[in-house]
Amino acid sequence: MSKRLAGQKALVTGANSGIGRAIAKSLAADGADVVINYISRPEETEKLIEEIKADGGNAIGIKADVSKEDQVQAMFKEAIEKFGTIDILVNNAGLQRDAPFKDQTLDDWNLVINVNLTGQFLCAREAVREFLRRGMRNVSVALGKIVCISSVHDIIPWAGHVNYAASKGGVMLMMKSIAQELAPQKIRVNSISPGAIRTNINYSAMDTPEEEAALLKLIPYKRIGVTEDIGKVAAWLCSDDADYITGATIYVDGGMTLYPEFAHGG
Ligand code: NAP
Repeated sequence: MSKRLAGQKALVTGANSGIGRAIAKSLAADGADVVINYISRPEETEKLIEEIKADGGNAIGIKADVSKEDQVQAMFKEAIEKFGTIDILVNNAGLQRDAPFKDQTLDDWNLVINVNLTGQFLCAREAVREFLRRGMRNVSVALGKIVCISSVHDIIPWAGHVNYAASKGGVMLMMKSIAQELAPQKIRVNSISPGAIRTNINYSAMDTPEEEAALLKLIPYKRIGVTEDIGKVAAWLCSDDADYITGATIYVDGGMTLYPEFAHGG
């Protein structure tokens, strides 16, 4: 079977751990050459490159803080020098700095907005500039594809995580507005909004059986997600199999956005 992303060049931000790592592996398994963006732990990036190469794929690592314009521009320049172009961007890098609202510091507000929202803007803008600069290639029917990793908290309010929910709500309308503006140029822009996926960002919410049981009450499908659940959807969404999808948010959440508390009441 031919690989769906053969000949395409992808850049995944925050890709040396968690969901980004699984996305990088899925895109590479589907035939894309992958830039693994990271900010710390270069040894994890090297390990991932080795794994991808051992599976017959191709990847390189580029360090950059996605919230810094000069670093994002330098990353795209290097990626384009090494791979020739970029066809796919997955905006995945993100973090949380949680606190009760009255104690939320401006520094933590700014950090979360800068990485989770401004970082996605900076990377999407560089990707769009590159798509438009180089024109159509015969590797995909679209000029370029952008996937924003958002969260169920782009629609579910989240007490104690106001900065995070605000950043993801922002991602949703940024994604839709870019999609609306650039659809005529055949650039597809979509979001994947994960529910609870077991990674470093949320291990503290599921590290005891009691916490896990409480979390499962919020998931009608009664399973905590794994990173591969997101990786597989990302590879499909970037492929021409999903060519008629733009401006969409795909909730990959085991039903978390289905108001599970209303299943037996309301
Ligand atoms: P994770 O393992 O902590 O991954 C986040 C990655 O982003 C890390 O590799 C982190 O690098 C990187 N990063 C942070 N700041 C960065 C910056 N300024 N520049 C470049 N990279 C940066 O957590 P994850 O769960 O896989 O999160 C990935 C995405 O999924 C995030 O956008 C998150 O909001 C979203 N998400 C996760 C869940 C979930 O349940 N896990 C649910 C909904 C949405 P370092 O670790 O080196 O700092």
